[in-house]
Parts: sequence; C-alpha cells; structure tokens
Amino acid sequence: MTGLPVEDRALAAFLGLAIGDALGATVEFMTRREIAAEHGVLRDIVGGGWLHLKAGAVTDDTAMAIALGNSLVRRNGLDLTDLCEEFATWLRSGPLDVGNTCRRGIRRYIQRGLVTGQVNEGDAGNGAAMRFLPVAIANHRNAERARHWAVEQAHTTHNHPLSDAACETLAAMVVALLAGDGKAVAMELAEQLVGRYPTFRFVPYSGMSSAYVVDTLQTAFDGYFSTASFEDCLIRVVNQGGDADTAGAIAGALAGATYGLNAIPKRWLKALDRETVATIRALVPRLLVISDH
Ligand SMILES: [Mg+2]
Repeated sequence: MTGLPVEDRALAAFLGLAIGDALGATVEFMTRREIAAEHGVLRDIVGGGWLHLKAGAVTDDTAMAIALGNSLVRRNGLDLTDLCEEFATWLRSGPLDVGNTCRRGIRRYIQRGLVTGQVNEGDAGNGAAMRFLPVAIANHRNAERARHWAVEQAHTTHNHPLSDAACETLAAMVVALLAGDGKAVAMELAEQLVGRYPTFRFVPYSGMSSAYVVDTLQTAFDGYFSTASFEDCLIRVVNQGGDADTAGAIAGALAGATYGLNAIPKRWLKALDRETVATIRALVPRLLVISDH
C-alpha cells in the first residue's frame, strides 16, 4: 500500500468507484434482510436489481463522474458551462437512471442557461458527492483547489451546506490518499467534517443507507474505516442496501486510492463493463496532468 505511484492510486480510485456502483446497483433500494434472503452476502458483480442491469453495467454515479472528468480534461480545468453541457448531453442520451435533483439542475441549465442553483433545503441528497472523484484527481497536488472545485461542481445540481461539506471532505480525503498519506490522515479529515457538522458522526454506524448525503457518507465511512481491504470494504458497504450503488461508488473511490490496483479483486475488474474500463483508463492520466497547470 505504501509507496504506490499516484497513477496507480488514481486509476484504482476511479475503477473502484465504477466497481462499487456496478456491485451495489444489484441491491439498490433493498433492505439488509431482503439482500440476505436473496443473496446471502452479495460478493459478486451479477447485475439485475431494479434497473435490470447486465452484469458489470454501471449507473448514473459512474456516468456523471465520467462526464465531469471529460469536461475537466476538455477545458483543462473547471468550466461550469461546459460541465452543464456535458451533463445535458448525458441527460438527452436517455440514461436508465437519473436522480431527481440532478435532473432538475440539468433542466435548469437547458431551459434557463443557469449553471448553479440557489441554496435549497431539498438539495441534501448524495448526487453531487457521488461524482466528486475527478476533481480530486485533477487537483492531486492542490487540496485547496480540490475543495473549491468539489463545491463548485456540486452547485450545478445541489446547493446545500451538508452536500458541500461532504464533497469538500471527500475531495480532500482523496487528495491525501493519492499522495500516500494513508487512512490515518483520511480519518482526521472525516473527523473534521464531524466536528463541523456532528450529524455526520459515523461511529457507531446508524445502519441507514439512504440517498441523504449524511446517510451515504456514514455508510461509506463505516465500510472504509472498519475494514482493511478493498474487497471487505465494498462487501460491507453494498450489503447495507439502500442507496448501495452510490455508497459503494464513494467507498470504492476511497478504498481504491488507499489500497491500489493490485488490491482490486480480479473477478470484479473482469466483470466490469469493458467500455467503462477503457474510458476510465484513458481519462485518469489526462486528469492527473491538469494538476500541473
Ligand atoms: Mg446510481
């Protein structure tokens, strides 16, 4: 784990996000009891779920993270209008699944040209946090800018202090992890979040894994901090059910950045949709060089 190059950690983080999404999508919206009855413990990427996915297919979490990454690469940085165009193109392509708050934000851009919304009580969902990863990779040598861009990109669809705090924290955690700072530093950053907003306290784990950004981060943090491998982390997270694909995506990004490519089970990498793997492999090196400018 120590001494891995940043290229390895960044690629593992992005593939980890997609794997968490593909694994968790099978049990999205299910309860722990329903998962146990149907799968025992879900350990493999098998598809299905409410979206009737092919095994290895990813959902909106990965698609929006890739869209954000594409825009960052094209503009060599964060350009909110270009990002909204990228999201609009994605929405028009008719994706299987789009969160309500994301849809509303993208429509606001399409209909009125607005790239951000006002602060909104209803915007504390996890839809901005689920796609945070590319800003961390693009700013792997600049934690301040990573925090700033994480919030700016969030406001295209979600404008709420808890969503903002989640996005900033996740970006700062991944910047630290990409530098090889390890889980202790990630824990300090998670504790700073809890210090600012005690509602995020994740020990003891509440057992709630909804699309509320607080529940999602608690589920991802519980899985990440209470296990010692990529595989154990993701299995623990997705078997909580609820918004399992998003909690899985976030936990997968953290675990990938921590443990690196060799720690990702080969059966999961093999199962992941080929086109998604190729897209991520092409995107990550281009994101890493943005940090140099
Ligand atoms: Mg999803």
